[in-house]
Amino acid sequence: MPKEYKLEPLPYAFNALEPYIDARTMEIHHDKHYLGYINKLNKAIAQDPKLGEVSLEDLLRNLDKVSEKLRRAVRDNGGGTYNHAMFWKLMKPDGGGEPHGKVAEAIKKHFDTFENFQDLFNAAAKTRFGSGWAWLSVAPDGSLKITSTANQDCPLSEDLTPIFGLDVWEHAYYLKYQNRRPDYIFAFWHVVNWDEVEKNYDDALK
Ligand code: MN
Repeated sequence: MPKEYKLEPLPYAFNALEPYIDARTMEIHHDKHYLGYINKLNKAIAQDPKLGEVSLEDLLRNLDKVSEKLRRAVRDNGGGTYNHAMFWKLMKPDGGGEPHGKVAEAIKKHFDTFENFQDLFNAAAKTRFGSGWAWLSVAPDGSLKITSTANQDCPLSEDLTPIFGLDVWEHAYYLKYQNRRPDYIFAFWHVVNWDEVEKNYDDALK
């Protein structure tokens, strides 16, 4: 039996992030879009079960080792699976505020102030043309980098370890915000789970 990735439930109710992110968007995003990536990743693994023998993280770090025939499918759907699994946990009801712990110190060290970090991250999220993500990642030298990626491309494939990210595909916000991506980005800061970002940062340094 090849390995199968499964749809894990959200760690909160679909309506838990209202009014910032509406229940209907969360439900379609999780139960339709996210499930679609998982199903297509499983289809790729069924065609080459060796893909299931390594972690998803390793697959995305080493896309060049995936056969040319399946590389696009793994890049898009492995990325979609990994990115969303991280994204759901980066949010929580009654989230927001400012980071704490070591990641807060690192943000201040690299970006001077939290507000400056927010401005740079917002710019990356707003200017990503079309579908994609904005990210905060840890580089191999331990420094923090703000980037954006197209489609479901994952920073892991660029030798970066993502610790925080925002989905700026229209499917993440269109029902409530239509074409107003900046309003969605502004709302997102109210639901950020900084405990999770701190945990991701600590893990990335291990
Ligand atoms: Mn998405």
